[in-house]
Amino acid sequence: MQKILNYINGEYCEPHSGEWLDNYNPSNGEVYSQIANSNATDISKAYDAAKAAFPEWSNTTIEERSRILLKIAAIIERNLDRLAKAEAKDNGKPLSLARVVDIPRASSNFRFFGNAITQFASDAHESVGLGTMNYTLRQPIGVVGCISPWNLPLYLFSWKIAPALAAGNTVVAKPSEVTPMTAYLLGEICTEAGLPKGVLNIVHGTGPSAGQAIVEHPGIKAISFTGGTKTGEHLARTAAPMFKKLSLELGGKNPNLIFADCDYDKMLAVTVKSSFANQGQICLCGSRIFVESSIYEKFKKDFVAKVQQLKVGNPFDADTNLGALVSKPHLEKVQSYIAIAEDEGGKILCGGKSVTVKGSENGYYLEPTVIEVYDDQCRVNQEEIFGPVVTIMPFETEEEALQMANGVKYGLSSTLWTSDLNRTMRISKKLEAGIVWVNTWLNRDLRTPFGGVKDSGVGREGGFEALRFFTEAKNVCIKYE
Ligand code: NAD
Repeated sequence: MQKILNYINGEYCEPHSGEWLDNYNPSNGEVYSQIANSNATDISKAYDAAKAAFPEWSNTTIEERSRILLKIAAIIERNLDRLAKAEAKDNGKPLSLARVVDIPRASSNFRFFGNAITQFASDAHESVGLGTMNYTLRQPIGVVGCISPWNLPLYLFSWKIAPALAAGNTVVAKPSEVTPMTAYLLGEICTEAGLPKGVLNIVHGTGPSAGQAIVEHPGIKAISFTGGTKTGEHLARTAAPMFKKLSLELGGKNPNLIFADCDYDKMLAVTVKSSFANQGQICLCGSRIFVESSIYEKFKKDFVAKVQQLKVGNPFDADTNLGALVSKPHLEKVQSYIAIAEDEGGKILCGGKSVTVKGSENGYYLEPTVIEVYDDQCRVNQEEIFGPVVTIMPFETEEEALQMANGVKYGLSSTLWTSDLNRTMRISKKLEAGIVWVNTWLNRDLRTPFGGVKDSGVGREGGFEALRFFTEAKNVCIKYE
Protein backbone atom coordinates (compact mmCIF):
# COMPACT_ATOMS: atom_id res chain seq x y z
CA MET A 1 0.00 0.00 0.00
CA GLN A 2 1.23 3.51 -0.78
CA LYS A 3 3.06 5.21 2.08
CA ILE A 4 2.75 8.91 2.76
CA LEU A 5 6.26 9.75 3.91
CA ASN A 6 7.64 12.83 5.59
CA TYR A 7 9.62 15.26 3.43
CA ILE A 8 12.56 16.46 5.52
CA ASN A 9 15.74 18.13 4.26
CA GLY A 10 14.64 17.54 0.69
CA GLU A 11 14.28 13.76 1.14
CA TYR A 12 11.29 11.51 1.72
CA CYS A 13 11.69 9.54 4.94
CA GLU A 14 9.81 7.24 7.29
CA PRO A 15 8.61 8.44 10.70
CA HIS A 16 10.86 7.79 13.68
CA SER A 17 8.16 5.75 15.43
CA GLY A 18 7.87 3.33 12.49
CA GLU A 19 4.11 3.70 12.98
CA TRP A 20 1.50 4.42 10.34
CA LEU A 21 -2.07 5.73 10.30
CA ASP A 22 -4.76 4.52 7.92
CA ASN A 23 -5.76 6.94 5.20
CA TYR A 24 -9.36 6.53 4.01
CA ASN A 25 -10.95 7.18 0.66
CA PRO A 26 -14.21 8.89 1.75
CA SER A 27 -15.99 7.97 -1.47
CA ASN A 28 -15.92 4.24 -0.66
CA GLY A 29 -14.75 4.00 2.96
CA GLU A 30 -11.65 1.99 2.05
CA VAL A 31 -8.16 2.44 3.45
CA TYR A 32 -5.95 3.19 0.47
CA SER A 33 -2.68 4.50 1.90
CA GLN A 34 -0.67 4.73 5.11
CA ILE A 35 0.31 8.02 6.72
CA ALA A 36 3.53 8.57 8.67
CA ASN A 37 2.58 8.83 12.34
CA SER A 38 5.20 11.39 13.31
CA ASN A 39 6.10 12.65 16.75
CA ALA A 40 8.35 15.21 18.44
CA THR A 41 11.50 13.42 17.18
CA ASP A 42 10.44 13.93 13.55
CA ILE A 43 9.53 17.57 14.24
CA SER A 44 12.92 18.07 15.84
CA LYS A 45 14.63 16.58 12.78
CA ALA A 46 12.53 18.84 10.50
CA TYR A 47 13.38 21.85 12.67
CA ASP A 48 17.12 21.10 12.51
CA ALA A 49 16.93 20.91 8.71
CA ALA A 50 14.95 24.18 8.54
CA LYS A 51 17.32 25.92 10.94
CA ALA A 52 20.37 24.87 8.91
CA ALA A 53 18.72 26.08 5.68
CA PHE A 54 17.66 29.45 7.09
CA PRO A 55 20.86 31.52 6.76
CA GLU A 56 21.24 30.81 3.07
CA TRP A 57 17.54 31.00 2.16
CA SER A 58 17.01 34.27 4.01
CA ASN A 59 19.98 35.73 2.13
CA THR A 60 18.88 34.46 -1.26
CA THR A 61 17.95 37.35 -3.53
CA ILE A 62 14.28 38.18 -3.85
CA GLU A 63 14.51 37.47 -7.58
CA GLU A 64 15.78 33.96 -6.90
CA ARG A 65 13.15 33.20 -4.25
CA SER A 66 10.50 34.55 -6.57
CA ARG A 67 11.82 32.45 -9.48
CA ILE A 68 11.58 29.23 -7.43
CA LEU A 69 8.07 29.98 -6.17
CA LEU A 70 6.90 30.73 -9.72
CA LYS A 71 8.44 27.45 -10.82
CA ILE A 72 6.55 25.57 -8.09
CA ALA A 73 3.37 27.29 -9.34
CA ALA A 74 4.08 26.20 -12.91
CA ILE A 75 4.76 22.58 -11.90
CA ILE A 76 1.51 22.45 -9.90
CA GLU A 77 -0.29 23.75 -12.97
CA ARG A 78 1.37 21.16 -15.19
CA ASN A 79 0.26 18.44 -12.73
CA LEU A 80 -3.29 19.77 -12.46
CA ASP A 81 -4.94 16.54 -13.46
CA ARG A 82 -2.89 14.30 -11.21
CA LEU A 83 -3.21 16.61 -8.20
CA ALA A 84 -6.95 17.17 -8.71
CA LYS A 85 -7.54 13.42 -8.83
CA ALA A 86 -5.43 12.91 -5.71
CA GLU A 87 -7.39 15.64 -3.89
CA ALA A 88 -10.79 14.25 -4.92
CA LYS A 89 -9.82 10.75 -3.81
CA ASP A 90 -8.34 11.88 -0.50
CA ASN A 91 -11.05 14.37 0.45
CA GLY A 92 -14.22 13.13 -1.25
CA LYS A 93 -14.82 16.43 -3.06
CA PRO A 94 -16.04 16.42 -6.66
CA LEU A 95 -13.14 16.13 -9.10
CA SER A 96 -14.68 19.00 -11.06
CA LEU A 97 -14.27 21.25 -8.00
CA ALA A 98 -10.67 20.17 -7.33
CA ARG A 99 -9.89 20.89 -10.99
CA VAL A 100 -11.29 24.43 -11.04
CA VAL A 101 -10.81 25.55 -7.44
CA ASP A 102 -8.37 23.63 -5.23
CA ILE A 103 -5.43 22.99 -7.51
CA PRO A 104 -5.54 26.18 -9.62
CA ARG A 105 -5.73 28.14 -6.38
CA ALA A 106 -2.74 26.28 -4.89
CA SER A 107 -0.78 27.24 -7.98
CA SER A 108 -2.04 30.85 -7.72
CA ASN A 109 -0.89 31.02 -4.10
CA PHE A 110 2.72 30.29 -5.08
CA ARG A 111 2.50 32.59 -8.10
CA PHE A 112 0.91 35.40 -6.13
CA PHE A 113 3.45 35.40 -3.30
CA GLY A 114 6.32 34.80 -5.74
CA ASN A 115 5.30 38.08 -7.37
CA ALA A 116 4.17 39.92 -4.22
CA ILE A 117 7.57 39.59 -2.55
CA THR A 118 9.16 41.58 -5.38
CA GLN A 119 6.82 44.48 -4.51
CA PHE A 120 7.01 44.24 -0.70
CA ALA A 121 8.53 47.52 0.45
CA SER A 122 9.16 48.99 3.86
CA ASP A 123 8.84 52.52 5.23
CA ALA A 124 11.31 55.31 5.91
CA HIS A 125 10.53 58.19 8.29
CA GLU A 126 12.76 61.22 8.39
CA SER A 127 12.48 63.22 11.63
CA VAL A 128 13.60 66.56 10.23
CA GLY A 129 13.93 68.53 13.49
CA LEU A 130 15.74 65.69 15.25
CA GLY A 131 18.13 65.05 12.41
CA THR A 132 17.36 61.38 12.24
CA MET A 133 16.35 58.99 9.54
CA ASN A 134 14.34 55.92 10.50
CA TYR A 135 13.85 53.02 8.23
CA THR A 136 12.04 49.77 8.84
CA LEU A 137 13.70 46.47 8.16
CA ARG A 138 11.25 43.65 7.48
CA GLN A 139 13.26 40.58 8.36
CA PRO A 140 12.22 36.94 8.11
CA ILE A 141 11.45 35.37 11.47
CA GLY A 142 13.44 32.15 11.12
CA VAL A 143 11.83 28.73 11.29
CA VAL A 144 8.04 29.01 11.20
CA GLY A 145 5.27 26.42 11.61
CA CYS A 146 2.28 26.03 9.27
CA ILE A 147 -0.65 23.80 10.24
CA SER A 148 -3.66 23.32 7.97
CA PRO A 149 -7.08 21.58 7.91
CA TRP A 150 -8.70 19.00 5.62
CA ASN A 151 -11.40 20.93 3.78
CA LEU A 152 -9.26 22.61 1.09
CA PRO A 153 -6.07 20.61 1.57
CA LEU A 154 -3.44 21.87 -0.88
CA TYR A 155 -5.18 25.24 -1.28
CA LEU A 156 -4.87 26.15 2.41
CA PHE A 157 -1.52 24.43 2.93
CA SER A 158 0.04 26.51 0.14
CA TRP A 159 -1.77 29.68 1.31
CA LYS A 160 0.52 29.60 4.37
CA ILE A 161 3.69 28.06 2.98
CA ALA A 162 4.00 30.36 -0.04
CA PRO A 163 4.15 33.68 1.90
CA ALA A 164 6.34 32.12 4.60
CA LEU A 165 8.92 31.04 2.00
CA ALA A 166 8.60 34.23 -0.05
CA ALA A 167 9.46 36.30 3.02
CA GLY A 168 12.66 34.29 3.53
CA ASN A 169 11.62 31.94 6.33
CA THR A 170 12.18 28.22 6.41
CA VAL A 171 9.20 26.07 7.27
CA VAL A 172 8.04 23.04 9.22
CA ALA A 173 4.55 22.28 7.94
CA LYS A 174 1.88 19.76 8.82
CA PRO A 175 -1.21 19.10 6.70
CA SER A 176 -4.30 17.50 8.18
CA GLU A 177 -3.90 13.79 8.86
CA VAL A 178 -7.34 13.38 7.27
CA THR A 179 -6.14 14.61 3.84
CA PRO A 180 -2.33 14.38 3.57
CA MET A 181 -1.95 13.22 -0.04
CA THR A 182 -1.43 16.45 -2.00
CA ALA A 183 0.89 17.85 0.67
CA TYR A 184 2.91 14.66 0.27
CA LEU A 185 3.08 15.21 -3.50
CA LEU A 186 4.17 18.82 -2.97
CA GLY A 187 7.54 17.53 -1.71
CA GLU A 188 8.56 16.15 -5.08
CA ILE A 189 7.28 19.30 -6.81
CA CYS A 190 9.51 21.45 -4.60
CA THR A 191 12.51 19.23 -5.33
CA GLU A 192 11.83 19.51 -9.07
CA ALA A 193 11.53 23.30 -8.76
CA GLY A 194 14.98 23.44 -7.15
CA LEU A 195 13.88 24.56 -3.69
CA PRO A 196 17.02 24.10 -1.59
CA LYS A 197 17.05 21.22 0.90
CA GLY A 198 15.56 21.98 4.30
CA VAL A 199 13.74 25.16 3.24
CA LEU A 200 10.37 23.39 3.37
CA ASN A 201 9.85 20.33 5.58
CA ILE A 202 6.51 18.52 5.52
CA VAL A 203 5.73 16.28 8.46
CA HIS A 204 2.64 14.09 8.67
CA GLY A 205 0.75 12.87 11.69
CA THR A 206 -1.98 13.68 14.17
CA GLY A 207 -2.66 17.03 15.79
CA PRO A 208 -1.95 15.96 19.37
CA SER A 209 1.38 14.37 18.38
CA ALA A 210 3.05 16.04 15.35
CA GLY A 211 0.99 19.26 15.47
CA GLN A 212 1.46 19.76 19.19
CA ALA A 213 5.23 19.19 18.80
CA ILE A 214 5.41 22.04 16.24
CA VAL A 215 3.58 24.41 18.59
CA GLU A 216 5.71 23.36 21.59
CA HIS A 217 9.05 23.56 19.80
CA PRO A 218 10.90 26.48 21.38
CA GLY A 219 12.83 27.26 18.17
CA ILE A 220 9.71 27.71 16.02
CA LYS A 221 8.86 31.35 16.63
CA ALA A 222 5.67 31.81 14.61
CA ILE A 223 2.71 29.57 13.93
CA SER A 224 0.17 30.03 11.17
CA PHE A 225 -2.80 27.80 11.89
CA THR A 226 -6.11 27.15 10.15
CA GLY A 227 -8.58 24.80 11.80
CA GLY A 228 -11.27 24.53 14.42
CA THR A 229 -11.87 27.14 17.14
CA LYS A 230 -11.32 24.64 19.98
CA THR A 231 -7.96 23.57 18.52
CA GLY A 232 -7.06 27.24 18.06
CA GLU A 233 -7.81 27.96 21.73
CA HIS A 234 -5.60 25.08 22.82
CA LEU A 235 -2.85 26.19 20.48
CA ALA A 236 -2.97 29.77 21.77
CA ARG A 237 -2.66 28.51 25.35
CA THR A 238 0.35 26.38 24.46
CA ALA A 239 2.12 29.09 22.47
CA ALA A 240 1.39 32.12 24.68
CA PRO A 241 4.04 31.49 27.41
CA MET A 242 6.68 31.31 24.66
CA PHE A 243 5.41 34.59 23.12
CA LYS A 244 5.13 33.07 19.68
CA LYS A 245 3.65 35.07 16.87
CA LEU A 246 0.27 33.52 16.04
CA SER A 247 -2.13 33.71 13.14
CA LEU A 248 -5.32 31.77 13.81
CA GLU A 249 -7.93 31.20 11.11
CA LEU A 250 -10.75 29.38 12.88
CA GLY A 251 -14.37 28.28 12.54
CA GLY A 252 -17.35 30.17 11.21
CA LYS A 253 -21.13 30.25 11.21
CA ASN A 254 -21.63 32.72 8.44
CA PRO A 255 -24.87 34.62 7.87
CA ASN A 256 -26.45 35.20 4.49
CA LEU A 257 -28.79 38.23 4.59
CA ILE A 258 -31.27 38.35 1.73
CA PHE A 259 -33.34 41.48 1.16
CA ALA A 260 -36.39 41.64 -1.11
CA ASP A 261 -34.76 44.27 -3.34
CA CYS A 262 -31.93 41.96 -4.47
CA ASP A 263 -31.41 40.45 -7.92
CA TYR A 264 -33.46 37.38 -7.02
CA ASP A 265 -32.32 34.89 -9.67
CA LYS A 266 -28.65 35.65 -9.18
CA MET A 267 -29.07 35.46 -5.40
CA LEU A 268 -30.84 32.11 -5.62
CA ALA A 269 -28.16 30.50 -7.81
CA VAL A 270 -25.28 31.79 -5.69
CA THR A 271 -27.01 30.89 -2.42
CA VAL A 272 -27.23 27.25 -3.50
CA LYS A 273 -23.48 27.34 -4.09
CA SER A 274 -22.62 29.21 -0.90
CA SER A 275 -24.62 26.63 1.04
CA PHE A 276 -23.38 23.38 -0.49
CA ALA A 277 -20.09 23.88 -2.35
CA ASN A 278 -17.56 21.27 -1.19
CA GLN A 279 -20.43 19.55 0.72
CA GLY A 280 -20.76 22.70 2.84
CA GLN A 281 -17.24 22.10 4.14
CA ILE A 282 -15.83 25.55 3.40
CA CYS A 283 -15.24 27.81 6.38
CA LEU A 284 -16.86 30.59 4.28
CA CYS A 285 -20.09 28.75 3.43
CA GLY A 286 -23.18 30.71 4.41
CA SER A 287 -24.82 28.32 6.84
CA ARG A 288 -27.46 30.66 8.33
CA ILE A 289 -29.81 32.12 5.76
CA PHE A 290 -31.99 35.04 6.85
CA VAL A 291 -34.61 36.21 4.35
CA GLU A 292 -36.79 39.33 4.38
CA SER A 293 -40.30 38.17 5.27
CA SER A 294 -41.98 39.59 2.12
CA ILE A 295 -40.07 37.08 -0.08
CA TYR A 296 -39.56 34.35 2.51
CA GLU A 297 -42.20 31.87 1.30
CA LYS A 298 -41.17 32.28 -2.34
CA PHE A 299 -37.49 31.85 -1.44
CA LYS A 300 -38.24 28.78 0.66
CA LYS A 301 -40.07 27.09 -2.22
CA ASP A 302 -37.54 28.02 -4.93
CA PHE A 303 -34.48 27.26 -2.81
CA VAL A 304 -35.69 23.83 -1.74
CA ALA A 305 -36.62 23.00 -5.35
CA LYS A 306 -33.10 23.90 -6.53
CA VAL A 307 -31.41 22.03 -3.68
CA GLN A 308 -33.42 18.91 -4.48
CA GLN A 309 -31.94 18.96 -7.99
CA LEU A 310 -28.37 18.69 -6.69
CA LYS A 311 -26.82 15.32 -7.35
CA VAL A 312 -24.95 13.55 -4.58
CA GLY A 313 -22.55 11.07 -6.11
CA ASN A 314 -19.11 9.65 -6.61
CA PRO A 315 -16.56 12.51 -6.72
CA PHE A 316 -15.25 11.20 -10.03
CA ASP A 317 -18.61 11.35 -11.86
CA ALA A 318 -18.85 14.40 -14.09
CA ASP A 319 -22.41 15.28 -13.03
CA THR A 320 -21.78 15.08 -9.27
CA ASN A 321 -22.61 18.27 -7.37
CA LEU A 322 -21.88 16.98 -3.88
CA GLY A 323 -19.29 14.28 -3.25
CA ALA A 324 -18.62 12.46 0.00
CA LEU A 325 -18.08 14.07 3.39
CA VAL A 326 -14.47 13.86 4.47
CA SER A 327 -14.66 11.07 7.08
CA LYS A 328 -17.02 8.76 8.93
CA PRO A 329 -16.69 10.63 12.26
CA HIS A 330 -17.41 13.89 10.46
CA LEU A 331 -20.48 12.43 8.73
CA GLU A 332 -21.73 11.22 12.12
CA LYS A 333 -21.16 14.65 13.65
CA VAL A 334 -23.16 16.34 10.88
CA GLN A 335 -25.95 13.77 11.21
CA SER A 336 -26.07 14.36 14.95
CA TYR A 337 -26.86 18.02 14.26
CA ILE A 338 -29.77 17.05 12.02
CA ALA A 339 -31.15 15.05 14.96
CA ILE A 340 -30.56 18.03 17.28
CA ALA A 341 -32.44 20.28 14.85
CA GLU A 342 -35.47 17.98 14.99
CA ASP A 343 -35.30 17.85 18.80
CA GLU A 344 -35.20 21.63 18.87
CA GLY A 345 -38.35 21.90 16.77
CA GLY A 346 -36.64 22.71 13.47
CA LYS A 347 -38.40 21.55 10.33
CA ILE A 348 -36.36 19.57 7.78
CA LEU A 349 -37.53 21.03 4.47
CA CYS A 350 -35.37 18.71 2.38
CA GLY A 351 -32.50 16.26 2.79
CA GLY A 352 -31.41 14.97 6.16
CA LYS A 353 -30.63 11.40 5.13
CA SER A 354 -27.48 9.59 4.16
CA VAL A 355 -27.19 8.53 0.52
CA THR A 356 -26.11 5.15 -0.83
CA VAL A 357 -24.17 5.63 -4.03
CA LYS A 358 -24.18 2.64 -6.36
CA GLY A 359 -20.74 1.08 -6.58
CA SER A 360 -19.53 3.13 -3.57
CA GLU A 361 -21.94 1.84 -0.94
CA ASN A 362 -19.62 2.46 2.01
CA GLY A 363 -18.89 6.10 1.15
CA TYR A 364 -19.81 8.98 3.47
CA TYR A 365 -22.62 10.64 1.52
CA LEU A 366 -25.33 12.91 2.85
CA GLU A 367 -28.22 14.72 1.19
CA PRO A 368 -28.01 18.53 1.08
CA THR A 369 -30.22 19.56 3.96
CA VAL A 370 -32.32 22.67 4.53
CA ILE A 371 -33.79 23.26 7.98
CA GLU A 372 -36.34 25.91 8.84
CA VAL A 373 -35.70 27.21 12.33
CA TYR A 374 -37.82 29.44 14.55
CA ASP A 375 -35.23 30.76 16.97
CA ASP A 376 -31.90 32.11 15.81
CA GLN A 377 -30.38 31.11 19.16
CA CYS A 378 -31.05 27.36 18.69
CA ARG A 379 -28.00 25.09 18.64
CA VAL A 380 -28.06 24.36 14.90
CA ASN A 381 -27.97 28.10 14.33
CA GLN A 382 -25.20 28.74 16.84
CA GLU A 383 -22.74 25.87 16.46
CA GLU A 384 -20.53 25.18 13.46
CA ILE A 385 -21.77 22.05 11.65
CA PHE A 386 -19.39 22.27 8.68
CA GLY A 387 -21.41 20.05 6.38
CA PRO A 388 -24.22 20.23 3.79
CA VAL A 389 -26.71 21.68 6.26
CA VAL A 390 -28.16 25.20 6.25
CA THR A 391 -30.88 26.86 8.28
CA ILE A 392 -33.39 29.38 6.99
CA MET A 393 -35.43 31.92 8.90
CA PRO A 394 -37.36 35.11 8.03
CA PHE A 395 -36.70 38.61 9.36
CA GLU A 396 -38.85 41.75 9.39
CA THR A 397 -36.43 44.67 9.65
CA GLU A 398 -32.83 45.56 8.88
CA GLU A 399 -32.14 45.85 12.62
CA GLU A 400 -33.49 42.39 13.28
CA ALA A 401 -31.44 40.93 10.41
CA LEU A 402 -28.27 42.50 11.79
CA GLN A 403 -28.99 41.37 15.31
CA MET A 404 -29.42 37.78 14.17
CA ALA A 405 -26.39 37.92 11.86
CA ASN A 406 -24.19 39.15 14.70
CA GLY A 407 -25.81 36.97 17.36
CA VAL A 408 -23.18 34.21 17.29
CA LYS A 409 -19.73 33.80 18.77
CA TYR A 410 -18.18 33.54 15.29
CA GLY A 411 -17.30 36.32 12.85
CA LEU A 412 -15.59 35.00 9.75
CA SER A 413 -17.55 36.07 6.67
CA SER A 414 -21.02 37.27 5.75
CA THR A 415 -23.00 37.76 2.57
CA LEU A 416 -25.50 40.50 1.86
CA TRP A 417 -28.01 40.52 -1.01
CA THR A 418 -29.54 43.91 -1.77
CA SER A 419 -29.66 46.54 -4.51
CA ASP A 420 -29.80 49.41 -2.06
CA LEU A 421 -26.43 51.13 -1.80
CA ASN A 422 -27.32 52.96 1.40
CA ARG A 423 -28.29 49.71 3.05
CA THR A 424 -25.09 48.11 1.79
CA MET A 425 -23.00 50.85 3.40
CA ARG A 426 -24.92 50.74 6.70
CA ILE A 427 -24.90 46.96 7.08
CA SER A 428 -21.33 46.36 5.89
CA LYS A 429 -20.06 48.63 8.64
CA LYS A 430 -22.08 46.89 11.31
CA LEU A 431 -21.59 43.23 10.40
CA GLU A 432 -19.21 41.58 12.85
CA ALA A 433 -17.10 39.67 10.34
CA GLY A 434 -13.70 39.80 8.68
CA ILE A 435 -15.24 39.62 5.21
CA VAL A 436 -18.49 41.03 3.81
CA TRP A 437 -19.56 39.91 0.35
CA VAL A 438 -22.25 42.02 -1.30
CA ASN A 439 -24.21 40.39 -4.13
CA THR A 440 -21.53 37.74 -4.54
CA TRP A 441 -19.82 34.94 -2.60
CA LEU A 442 -16.30 33.52 -2.38
CA ASN A 443 -15.03 36.16 -4.70
CA ARG A 444 -11.37 36.31 -3.75
CA ASP A 445 -8.67 38.78 -4.73
CA LEU A 446 -5.47 37.48 -3.15
CA ARG A 447 -4.32 41.02 -2.29
CA THR A 448 -7.16 41.50 0.20
CA PRO A 449 -6.92 40.81 3.93
CA PHE A 450 -8.42 37.48 4.92
CA GLY A 451 -9.46 36.41 8.40
CA GLY A 452 -12.09 36.56 11.09
CA VAL A 453 -13.12 38.38 14.25
CA LYS A 454 -14.53 37.06 17.54
CA ASP A 455 -14.07 33.27 17.83
CA SER A 456 -13.19 33.01 14.14
CA GLY A 457 -9.62 33.92 14.84
CA VAL A 458 -6.91 36.53 15.17
CA GLY A 459 -4.62 37.96 12.53
CA ARG A 460 -5.02 38.33 8.80
CA GLU A 461 -3.65 36.39 5.87
CA GLY A 462 -3.59 37.47 2.25
CA GLY A 463 -1.50 39.98 0.31
CA PHE A 464 1.02 42.02 2.25
CA GLU A 465 -0.75 41.09 5.51
CA ALA A 466 0.70 37.60 5.19
CA LEU A 467 4.16 38.95 4.37
CA ARG A 468 3.93 41.24 7.40
CA PHE A 469 2.98 38.27 9.59
CA PHE A 470 5.95 36.26 8.37
CA THR A 471 8.45 39.09 9.00
CA GLU A 472 9.55 41.05 12.05
CA ALA A 473 9.65 44.82 11.73
CA LYS A 474 12.83 46.43 13.02
CA ASN A 475 13.24 50.19 13.25
CA VAL A 476 16.73 51.50 12.46
CA CYS A 477 17.25 55.12 13.54
CA ILE A 478 20.31 56.96 12.18
CA LYS A 479 21.38 60.37 13.48
CA TYR A 480 22.94 62.61 10.90
CA GLU A 481 24.76 65.88 11.24
P1 NAD B 1 -8.80 20.81 13.39
O1 NAD B 1 -8.68 21.96 14.32
O2 NAD B 1 -9.27 19.51 13.93
O3 NAD B 1 -7.39 20.49 12.70
C1 NAD B 1 -6.68 21.45 11.96
C2 NAD B 1 -5.21 21.09 11.96
O4 NAD B 1 -4.72 21.22 13.29
C3 NAD B 1 -4.91 19.65 11.54
O5 NAD B 1 -3.73 19.61 10.80
C4 NAD B 1 -4.72 18.95 12.88
O6 NAD B 1 -3.92 17.80 12.82
C5 NAD B 1 -4.04 20.05 13.68
N1 NAD B 1 -4.14 19.92 15.14
C6 NAD B 1 -5.11 19.33 15.87
N2 NAD B 1 -4.80 19.38 17.19
C7 NAD B 1 -3.61 20.05 17.28
C8 NAD B 1 -2.79 20.43 18.36
N3 NAD B 1 -3.08 20.12 19.63
N4 NAD B 1 -1.66 21.13 18.11
C9 NAD B 1 -1.34 21.45 16.83
N5 NAD B 1 -2.07 21.09 15.76
C10 NAD B 1 -3.21 20.40 15.99
O7 NAD B 1 -9.69 21.30 12.20
P2 NAD B 1 -10.23 20.45 10.97
O8 NAD B 1 -11.33 19.56 11.46
O9 NAD B 1 -9.08 19.86 10.22
O10 NAD B 1 -10.83 21.59 10.03
C11 NAD B 1 -12.12 22.09 10.13
C12 NAD B 1 -12.13 23.42 10.85
O11 NAD B 1 -11.28 24.33 10.19
C13 NAD B 1 -13.49 24.07 10.84
O12 NAD B 1 -13.76 24.60 12.11
C14 NAD B 1 -13.36 25.18 9.82
O13 NAD B 1 -14.21 26.27 10.01
C15 NAD B 1 -11.94 25.58 10.04
N6 NAD B 1 -11.43 26.30 8.87
C16 NAD B 1 -11.20 27.64 8.99
C17 NAD B 1 -10.75 28.36 7.89
C18 NAD B 1 -10.47 29.84 7.99
O14 NAD B 1 -9.85 30.37 7.10
N7 NAD B 1 -10.90 30.52 9.03
C19 NAD B 1 -10.52 27.71 6.68
C20 NAD B 1 -10.78 26.34 6.61
C21 NAD B 1 -11.23 25.64 7.71
